[in-house]
Amino acid sequence: MGNSMFVYDEQMTNLIFDYCRWRLALDPVPLDFGGAQAMALNATLQGLINAEGTDPARVMEIFDNELATAVVSCDSPRFLSFIPAAPTKAALLFDMVVACSSLQATSWMEAAGAVAAENQALGVLAGLAGLPAGAGGCFVAGGSAGNLSALMVARDTAGHRMGGRAPERPLVAISEEAHSSVGKALRVLGVESLLVPCEDHRLTEDALRFALESHPRGSDVIAVVATAGTTNAGIVDDLAGVGAVAQERSLWFHVDGAYGCAALFAPSVRSRFDGIELVDSFVVDPHKWLFAPFDCAALVYREPNLAKAVHTQDASYLDVLHGDAPEEWNPSDYAYHLTRRARGLPLWFSLAVNGTDAYRDAVEAVLTVAQECADLIDRTPHLELIRRPELSVVLFRRTGWDRSDYERWSTWILNDQIGFVMHTTWEGEPVGRFAFLHPDTTLEIVGEILDTTA
Ligand SMILES: *Cc1c(COP(=O)(O)O)cnc(C)c1O
Repeated sequence: MGNSMFVYDEQMTNLIFDYCRWRLALDPVPLDFGGAQAMALNATLQGLINAEGTDPARVMEIFDNELATAVVSCDSPRFLSFIPAAPTKAALLFDMVVACSSLQATSWMEAAGAVAAENQALGVLAGLAGLPAGAGGCFVAGGSAGNLSALMVARDTAGHRMGGRAPERPLVAISEEAHSSVGKALRVLGVESLLVPCEDHRLTEDALRFALESHPRGSDVIAVVATAGTTNAGIVDDLAGVGAVAQERSLWFHVDGAYGCAALFAPSVRSRFDGIELVDSFVVDPHKWLFAPFDCAALVYREPNLAKAVHTQDASYLDVLHGDAPEEWNPSDYAYHLTRRARGLPLWFSLAVNGTDAYRDAVEAVLTVAQECADLIDRTPHLELIRRPELSVVLFRRTGWDRSDYERWSTWILNDQIGFVMHTTWEGEPVGRFAFLHPDTTLEIVGEILDTTA
């Protein structure tokens, strides 16, 4: 018979499926611990990989008891640091289908079924943004990969867009609040940034116009990146104003909505995103606030053909991928990647079985708890709200605390499994920060956490 590694193993299958069943049923999942609490992991792992192989039950036991507990559960309703995660059960289950079926979605020729389903999910997102019917793109590993891929198209199509007047040393206009991945993407591309000074942390039409007109190299700008939901404070830039300037000057208009564009689902804040329909490209991470498992970011272009002209890989052995049928869609043509997991399918399945109303309600629930948290902070004498949340990030000051107080507090409440809340820097000062994303994070949990600041 075949190689033993490829033989169906009932016992190991049960071992894994039982674990997954148990983990899926946990409600809520334990917060667990991170690197600061982790002890002697290298000693634990010692000898586990050897020439003969180790009993699967033993390996799973070590994973369950020693490794999994040394990872803070980002899907815990008490995980309120950085950007948490909250994948739906449907999405998690379908991720197992993607794994067990070795589903890739690189080209139409090999994987039309997976690509068509991914494109249906992308279509929902493009529709929410108000893009025309021809819009499309692909799912990439994260917002960082999406920003890089989109800005590469912005750079390489500048000549075409600007009627042959593309500057020799192009610049991309970004605000100080742009995510670090944008700056990094520009470094990869060898493109410099023009940093637009902003009032109150928001990129506006006036700020952009002023920067382009007053900067000695303003006419070298070929693109502008706006953020729809800054990571630090959840601020949405003036998309309509920035989009208008971009149109006037033939700049590529990219919106980084990795975190915030999930709120396109929420009628209560939809008007904050007015102008997003003007984008040339935008990114939203379903692995953040659209309840999909890692790693999944949606990259959508207004005119996918421009992206295709830039990203299509022309190796002779790939020629067969590029047929002529109009429905053919190769996700490899819309980002810098080639082989890719069908990472959009867990989102697709979850959207299909839960319906878009459930997404609207889940996002609205998170927006509500953020407002309630802000109210609670406002009512608490020793706490101070930094600004009214626009989306679901809440910044606050504990009077009398310095950075080391916030640090001690974070360590203490994680040790006691009350919450995972880190501080951030706001206008040069350390402040507490909540990032809400899990619909099961209740005001009661928030109150319990805030009580520990007394
Ligand atoms: C998280 C985030 C990114 C980076 O996305 P990854 O998925 O971590 O690569 C980019 N921009 C913004 C605004 C983000 O919040």
